[in-house]
Amino acid sequence: MPTRKILIVEDESIIAEDISDCLIALGYSITGIVYSGEEAIQSATELRPDLVLMDINLQGEIDGITAAEEIRGRFHIPVVYLTAYADENTLRRVNVTQPFGYIVKPFEEKNLHTTIQLALHRHQYDSLTNLPNRSLLREQLSLVLENQKELPEMIPILTLSLDRINRINSNLGHDIGDSVLCKVAERLSNFTEKINLVARLESAEFAIVIKPVAEKQDAAKIARNILDIVAQPMIFKGSELYVTASIGICLSPGDGCDGEELLKNAYSAMYNSQERGGNKYEFYTATTAINSINKFSQETCLRNALKRSEFEVYYEPQIEIKTGKLIGAEALVRWNHPKRGRVSPAEFIPMAEEMGLIAALGEWVLETACRQTQAWQRESLPPLRVSVNLSARQFEQKNFTERVSEILRETNLDPKCLQLELTEGLILQDEKAAARTFTVWRDMGIQIAIDDFGTGYSSLSYPKRLPFDAIKIDKSFIRNIADDRQNAAITVAIIQMAHCMNMTVIAEGVENQQELAFLCDRECDEIQGHFFSQALPKPQFEALLKSDKCWVM
Ligand code: C2E
Ligand code: MG
Ligand code: MG
Repeated sequence: MPTRKILIVEDESIIAEDISDCLIALGYSITGIVYSGEEAIQSATELRPDLVLMDINLQGEIDGITAAEEIRGRFHIPVVYLTAYADENTLRRVNVTQPFGYIVKPFEEKNLHTTIQLALHRHQYDSLTNLPNRSLLREQLSLVLENQKELPEMIPILTLSLDRINRINSNLGHDIGDSVLCKVAERLSNFTEKINLVARLESAEFAIVIKPVAEKQDAAKIARNILDIVAQPMIFKGSELYVTASIGICLSPGDGCDGEELLKNAYSAMYNSQERGGNKYEFYTATTAINSINKFSQETCLRNALKRSEFEVYYEPQIEIKTGKLIGAEALVRWNHPKRGRVSPAEFIPMAEEMGLIAALGEWVLETACRQTQAWQRESLPPLRVSVNLSARQFEQKNFTERVSEILRETNLDPKCLQLELTEGLILQDEKAAARTFTVWRDMGIQIAIDDFGTGYSSLSYPKRLPFDAIKIDKSFIRNIADDRQNAAITVAIIQMAHCMNMTVIAEGVENQQELAFLCDRECDEIQGHFFSQALPKPQFEALLKSDKCWVM
């Protein structure tokens, strides 16, 4: 443990020397001895001691309490009072500054030592954002609640969580993720007009205690302000980044009998606004609590689902236009939930990503799909290519490529029969790294398809720079393609571009004859969608494969 530096603020030089000797003997180092509140603030600014030992009655204009408030507020340095003052009024003022300790003179050496140790221990600030952490918040919040007891107003307690922070971390890196957190922390800390306290709870979660309000609507207005403040663009490495937040609000008194319960309830409300898509605030109600219990139990269920073999791979047929033959299958995972029945991947994939389960789940899908495809080949069924979706999280896994080649080896599937589907966002995070990985995959013989093309940060230029085998046109462009001129124009442009670069074009989500006719006419290569078939469980897909059906286009 490094030697802790202490600033002594004491106007009686003899006492100050005495304290100093005592502290040095106890193993602390003294950054300085000052006699006035002004000097105290200046020394704290310049020397950043680990702790300030503060007398109350000082030389100069401002007293120790005012100086302590400044020092705590601006630099988050813990202050321990060491003073002869102990009257009611002084104590009340002291309390407001949330001191880390209070020692009455004349002091005992042992008492001084213990109080300082405790203060330093309690003072664990959050090192990334410099905000108070959860345990500090708990103490400060209980003081705020205590002090407000007699007032007619309400205190709004908010929890705030940044939406999609995991996506920022995985797409842009943890450095940017951390900078976003710091920026948000800074913006919240500067909103002192309305905010009383800000603390960082977990990774991207903050607690905010608002100054007392007269009505619920005032709290709503401030929450909206906070959402706006967070949503202001941030500039990192020359590019703009936007983040949004979800806020849960509860009011004291009413929504909880102590700080702990208020925070818990604000959390449930926050989960609800997350569920509703984020960039929202929501007040706590009894129903909120039920919903958040649901979310919690859902997460628990998801965690167990892999162990309990509740996942199943479905196969969606992909048909080659030229021959009308089934040439591929997209593996799409399904969750057979014991109570809810079949759950859509659109719901649980993001959840699995957030919870860090996607690597295990994705690997399971990959292995199942490869093993199954190989099994069909062994039965001498028509040759088939299998496409597996990858999430950004899997892609950034260090040993992902090794795992893919291990799985190919173990399942004995010819790498040419495997296609990996990636989305545009994933490429955008680090184009150079993506290009390197793709080259390795290509050398292994694996095919690479870009999924949902046109929906992301589409750039028609990067497919030129990256070695793709196929482009999948997103279903939103296929919809009403025969009538929607804009969709038609985009689709035609994508097909032409892809063909110029020797890429295959796959249209997804084809639902009717008109859409199919348009795509045949414009020489799209492959088609998938409900017009042909939905994604099928293994036995049904196998039956289709065995029938060796030929579609007439
Ligand atoms: P995606 O890869 O774009 O898959 C196509 C989605 O469109 C599938 O939804 C499919 O069932 C649906 N679809 C197919 N034909 C039609 C149609 O004609 N009309 C309409 N309206 N929809 C059609 P699904 O299976 O719900 O999957 C949704 C998304 O979940 C997938 O989008 C993919 O991004 C993700 N996903 C599915 N399985 C996996 C997986 O194993 N791993 C990962 N990382 N993501 C997966
Ligand atoms: Mg896909
Ligand atoms: Mg798609």
